[in-house]
Amino acid sequence: MTFPDRLEVPREVLEIARVLEEAGHEAWCVGGALRDTLLGDPHSDFDLATSARPEDVQRLFRRTAAIGVEHGTVGVIDRTRVLHEVTTFRRDVATDGRHAVVEYGASLEEDLARRDFTINAIAYRPLNGEWRDLHGGQRDLESGVVRAVGDPAARFREDYLRILRAIRFAARFGFAIDPATWQAARAAADGLGRLSAERVRDEWFKGLRTARDLETLVRLWRESGAAAVWLHGLRHEGEGVVPPAERSPPPRDPVLLTALLSDDPGDLLRRLRASNAEIARAEAVARGPAEPAAADEISVRRWLATVGSAADDLVALVRLRGRAESAPWIGTAAKIRERGDPLTRSDLAVTGRDLEALGLSGKRIGETLAVLLDRVLQDPSANTRERLLAIAREDR
Ligand code: ATP
Ligand code: MG
Repeated sequence: MTFPDRLEVPREVLEIARVLEEAGHEAWCVGGALRDTLLGDPHSDFDLATSARPEDVQRLFRRTAAIGVEHGTVGVIDRTRVLHEVTTFRRDVATDGRHAVVEYGASLEEDLARRDFTINAIAYRPLNGEWRDLHGGQRDLESGVVRAVGDPAARFREDYLRILRAIRFAARFGFAIDPATWQAARAAADGLGRLSAERVRDEWFKGLRTARDLETLVRLWRESGAAAVWLHGLRHEGEGVVPPAERSPPPRDPVLLTALLSDDPGDLLRRLRASNAEIARAEAVARGPAEPAAADEISVRRWLATVGSAADDLVALVRLRGRAESAPWIGTAAKIRERGDPLTRSDLAVTGRDLEALGLSGKRIGETLAVLLDRVLQDPSANTRERLLAIAREDR
């Protein structure tokens, strides 16, 4: 792969670069957009790196947003109200494995040297078509290698998240991880425990969403030692738990995949500080039952009533496992839901109040509603006021 003479850069980005350059600053495209474009994967987020200070950037553009001024990033809002990140060249003055203290007044070379991997450390100056590739990013893109910029052990100690990023990029592009980089990543994996759960969760979810094949992603998390630190209860390989790519094409659902890959997904997601809704979803899936006792309508209605809103997730899991063909109940469930058969107490043609009017009170009301629902699950045509009141009277 050779660098093209000119790279197609979105017009608005070019315009921002022009304003910066005309004010006497350098403006370079950097990061993921260049990498993805060179790989033939169109990308819209072209980030700019500049010699201008954040306050210069804020002064030069009419509309800006202070999205990360403390680390040098100003959002420039273009005419179409799209935000573009413009980040001042930085050098690290202190790192602790989680955060970096940065300083401005750095050169492009210094800014590229603090980036994580060679494939992420290429720069292109859109105004004159100049390329800067000081770490062999082009070569590594061509041969498909994720390689740390500089001394890999030192780079992982500066920020342990880079271990997870290396895994994510390798799984996403089907790249190999350079042996020295991989060795250093494995040696540093214990340091992953110092990261915040939120950053780890973002990486895990992004990895699940973007990996070309999930098996590689899971294998690398495991082999690096990252899974042992953060993904407790991850299922073991050889059980065929990882769906092949064709069964899990993007867009993928990271919560569902976590439920598929883990013995106790609620616990795993709680450790990763996922949202309460995500944790509840994973717990409902784990609770099951994973499928109805049989494929007849009564069994399937009972199952739908038990699992409630987890039904779609449980069906999706059967598909991901490649077992949909031997699960005739999936068709039965679809028919039942299409017909709108009553499945919950609130679908019943009578309410607790109606039962009170019959003289029932307290616990008896709940028990009677359960009896009525079970009758209706067996025979949806029983869901009329008269029939249910008659049953309730008998049951009294
Ligand atoms: P994508 O957004 O597709 O996941 P990306 O490479 O754009 O990939 P970002 O997290 O958006 O990733 O970061 C933009 C750039 O900033 C990266 O390409 C890399 O040069 C640099 N970078 C990001 N995170 C780190 C890090 N932890 N250590 C060093 N450099 C980093
Ligand atoms: Mg990005």
